[in-house]
Amino acid sequence: MQVNLDLASNNVEEIRNEKLVIIGGGPAGLSAALYAGRADLRPLVLIGLQLGGQAALTNDIENYPGFVEGINGAEVGDLFLKQAEKFGAKMEYDLAESIDFSQQPYTIKTVNGQTIKTISIIIASGASPRLLNVPGEAELTGKGVSYCGTCDAFFFRDKEVIVVGGGDSALEEGLFLTRFANKVTVVHRRDELRAGAILEKRARANEKIDFIWDTVVETINGDGKVKSVTLKNLKTGEIQEFETDGVFIFIGHIPNSDFLGDELEKDSLGYVVSDRQMRTNIEGVFTAGEISDPDFRQVVTSAGMGAAAAIQATRYLEMKEE
Ligand code: NAP
Repeated sequence: MQVNLDLASNNVEEIRNEKLVIIGGGPAGLSAALYAGRADLRPLVLIGLQLGGQAALTNDIENYPGFVEGINGAEVGDLFLKQAEKFGAKMEYDLAESIDFSQQPYTIKTVNGQTIKTISIIIASGASPRLLNVPGEAELTGKGVSYCGTCDAFFFRDKEVIVVGGGDSALEEGLFLTRFANKVTVVHRRDELRAGAILEKRARANEKIDFIWDTVVETINGDGKVKSVTLKNLKTGEIQEFETDGVFIFIGHIPNSDFLGDELEKDSLGYVVSDRQMRTNIEGVFTAGEISDPDFRQVVTSAGMGAAAAIQATRYLEMKEE
């Protein structure tokens, strides 16, 4: 630990020095931590606010190899964390707020007020749910508007809800919601789903699920809690008010890359750009998981990317020490 003394303000700033900091506590970050731990790098992992990333919000993960009966999303995060800790990874519930990439070692500032200098970084900060950006959405979030069926379905026992979106998330979460709600209406802007065949088949076969096609939500209405949505049919232009107790929004994600500034290369959607070796445009800075993957977004692909990024970081640090 290094101490910077600012005599003018009498502030003492403690600076931590690390070899490798991994930003993110989802499957990518935790897999990177496992591999870097096993390479004896003692990586510091800034988990963020929630262990397990978006996977933790999934009830049953049925496509992670090795778990024949499926596994609960929150459990995956916990298992990944314990395994990485076993090999010396240091876990902290803190969030990177900014990174100064102008000189190596790079400087990370965190929301808990830490200043961390590090030679190498693996960015695995994931993505967050995309908002509809319609009137009523912000005011009624937590009051009937939700972005996580697994978290909030319990509050909708014997109620009627709508699910917005036509992808895998919408159907997976919609199916989960049928465990509690009496009726789940999927509102999709086109007349065919984006979701995969298995989920589509299950959703269409579920008696509690209805579909409204070619339709978007224009406003979410309610006073203190959701009462209805105003829907617009994009083909006919017809507007209708549709009564509902809850609005679950699953229309994709946006990468958590705002804190990364302009020096690190990102694409037009904000995803971090990397090469096949998980290298970014900045020396010693690697990336893994959904922050740099708009295409696959699976626990298994993110975990694989995390492992690859850690192998590259290990090679890089070895080269640097030679
Ligand atoms: P997604 O595949 O991008 O689907 C987003 C859906 O929301 C699409 O149907 C899209 O409509 C709709 N949409 C987007 N913006 C909208 C807007 N402003 N208003 C209304 N509708 C809008 O997102 P996702 O479902 O979250 O899935 C993300 C990735 O995770 C995918 O690769 C998916 O396969 C994967 N995933 C997999 C599983 C699983 O394997 N079990 C589970 C969850 C997610 P259009 O179709 O018209 O574009």
